[in-house]
Amino acid sequence: MKLILPDYDFKFEDGNAEVKNGNLFIYRAGAFAKIMTKLTYLVYGNDECFFCHRKKRPNALETDNTKYFSRITKDHLIPQEFGGPTITNNLRPACSECNNEKENMYLDEFEEYRRIKYAKDGNNEEKLRKFKEDLRVKQEKRKRGEIESIPKEYLSDEIFNNIYVNFWIDQPLGEKYMKQEDFLKDYGRLPKPIIISQNKFLLDGFNSILLAKYNLNEKLSIIVLENVFFKGFPD
Ligand SMILES: [Zn+2]
Repeated sequence: MKLILPDYDFKFEDGNAEVKNGNLFIYRAGAFAKIMTKLTYLVYGNDECFFCHRKKRPNALETDNTKYFSRITKDHLIPQEFGGPTITNNLRPACSECNNEKENMYLDEFEEYRRIKYAKDGNNEEKLRKFKEDLRVKQEKRKRGEIESIPKEYLSDEIFNNIYVNFWIDQPLGEKYMKQEDFLKDYGRLPKPIIISQNKFLLDGFNSILLAKYNLNEKLSIIVLENVFFKGFPD
């Protein structure tokens, strides 16, 4: 799949990356999440919430909370809990209030939730309780892989014999690894796809690679970003 990029060339001040002729060149391993945050705000802006459409508070005198928010965040449309990748295609600028409220809901679920919550026909609490109950059942199925959690067009069918990993390993079995290992034990599958560049360098998912390696029957889901090239050291 193609990573959504700004439609103009752009050089990162810290030298970590560069957008050029519709491609992204990454020069530093480990900076991927930071680069995606920056790109998200470049593509979608950072002064309007994608969900409530409120604007960033221009100054302290503007106190109307129905029009303005104070803090911008990035929301994962496909929630991280269900493997939603940290890439511009899956990120949107959101005020901290919407981001907190959305939690681990998908976009359609969050819209439904808001419809029920703000409906004027009464009995909203009971309807919300029922909604959350149904949601929990659906989420469990998603974790077990019984409902698709990531759209098929995100994932590559290609078989990769080699993926280049260019990360420093100081604590390979950290907290995040343990969390994913628990998920694997509970649900019999790896929680999220790995992300690689066009030239087959790992951009995200180091723990998943380790887990798949130690649990040899586990298959990795792979997202290939066709317009992203890792150039961390000379070819
Ligand atoms: Zn909002």
